[in-house]
Amino acid sequence: MSDFTEESNEFTLSLKDADPATLKSILEIHWERICSRLKIEVGEVEYRTWLQQITLGGIEEDELTLYLPTRFLRDWVRSQYNSKLNQLWNSELSQIRRVELALSAPAETTSIPSETTIANEEIAATQTISEDITIPQQAAQIKNTPQVVTATDSKEEESKLPTQTQLDPRFTFDNFIVGKPNEFAYACSRRVAERPSSPGFNPLFLYGGVGLGKTHLMHAIGFELAKAGNISVSYMSAEKFMYRFIASIRSQSTIEFKEELRSVDVLMIDDLQFLIGKDNTQEEFFHTFNALIDAGRQIIVSADKSPSDLSGLEDRLRTRLGCGMVADIHATTYELRISILEAKAASANVTISPKVMEFLAHKITTNVRELEGALNRLIAHANLFGRPITLEATQEVLHDILKSHERRVTIEEIQRKVAEHCNIRQTDMTSARRARAVARPRQIAMFLAKQLTSRSLPEIGRKFGNRDHTTVMHAISRISELIEKDSAFAEDVELLRRMLES
Ligand code: ADP
Ligand code: MG
Repeated sequence: MSDFTEESNEFTLSLKDADPATLKSILEIHWERICSRLKIEVGEVEYRTWLQQITLGGIEEDELTLYLPTRFLRDWVRSQYNSKLNQLWNSELSQIRRVELALSAPAETTSIPSETTIANEEIAATQTISEDITIPQQAAQIKNTPQVVTATDSKEEESKLPTQTQLDPRFTFDNFIVGKPNEFAYACSRRVAERPSSPGFNPLFLYGGVGLGKTHLMHAIGFELAKAGNISVSYMSAEKFMYRFIASIRSQSTIEFKEELRSVDVLMIDDLQFLIGKDNTQEEFFHTFNALIDAGRQIIVSADKSPSDLSGLEDRLRTRLGCGMVADIHATTYELRISILEAKAASANVTISPKVMEFLAHKITTNVRELEGALNRLIAHANLFGRPITLEATQEVLHDILKSHERRVTIEEIQRKVAEHCNIRQTDMTSARRARAVARPRQIAMFLAKQLTSRSLPEIGRKFGNRDHTTVMHAISRISELIEKDSAFAEDVELLRRMLES
């Protein structure tokens, strides 16, 4: 490391001609130095809060890309640290004249840039940005204008960040399809919207996996309460809560921040798991929480896990979160997915054959957001061509989505299953032992790894105790031969394959 530091000029000069790997390490070295300087300049806490999550991207001509995981963080870093980052990079490497702050692609879909990827990203972004609720246009047109409090930032912050967005008009109770997995959460949400602050329902804690309707239900409650009027509601993501809190410390307005929050009738905090590891913000939230509950106000919180499973949250906070009503949204069932598809197709005024719906409900099982994305694409397609969607067309239009939903088997799983089946230890898959009793199962596993994963031969070799790709090639041809010759053996391998694929 220090060698490079001494000679950084040399590296600077060779930046243009460097091969990708070298370039990457050069950039990493500089980035590390910049990070140390940032830590000193902005302080450890600020660094950890805002800058630690930056990852290094690539360089193109004179522009360097840095990635941030959420739109919110990116906007914040851009508004606060853009010139600092530009200046530091430029002083490290004079070729770099511009630093671009970009959103990191969601890990799962990086390789498949598609309409859905974009659609999903946008939805995700609305969620990150739907911070404070403002009066939704639709609701505002209703006779008695509802009073929705949005905690306003100081003028200075406000000009820098898009803090106010409207409630998503799609997220109402009417648009929420109820089925077994979510009926309890739905009923609780309805109940709180009708009679906030009832004992037993305060706080309301909604939890469940990604894309199962937590934010939708919270917005729906907000809508309902806003319609009723005379109730002040504040909704924000936990991320936003933290930002507001830290910003108030900076501008020495924590008292105002606290007062503002403590003056609402209903406080909703979305994605509370974000506060894990953010001790000061947690502490502040805890006090706000207590003050509001003690004053008989309603609190609604969502998270990806139940209070007891949110390890990393302070015990006393977890205890209090579990004191009201805790409602779990379970993974969707096939029936619920069909109902959702039917409802969404109907509201888009598009007829989709039952066969196509069944196909989608079978194939896309993870979350409703993805299901919606797929359906939207089909609807767009149908509108564009003005003809009904066939199953073949569906497969073609959704090719990439469906592919990403195929069950992905990992090499580790293959090794484990094969080892179990052949009665050897899993560690033998990577060991140097050459005895037939372990070598043959290892070859079977390599063969299946090639068949069932998209890994290259060298990658497979590496996973099997750093073996060479020629060893993998040899294994594959050996197993293929045996399958040809020996039907019992072929059956055995086929059985393993089916087990792994199911
Ligand atoms: P979460 O906050 O749990 O990650 P969201 O509330 O953002 O999930 O839901 C993701 C998408 O799926 C939204 O567009 C939402 O409207 C839709 N959705 C989820 N559950 C349902 C449901 N039961 N009925 C209709 N739409 C739903
Ligand atoms: Mg959400």
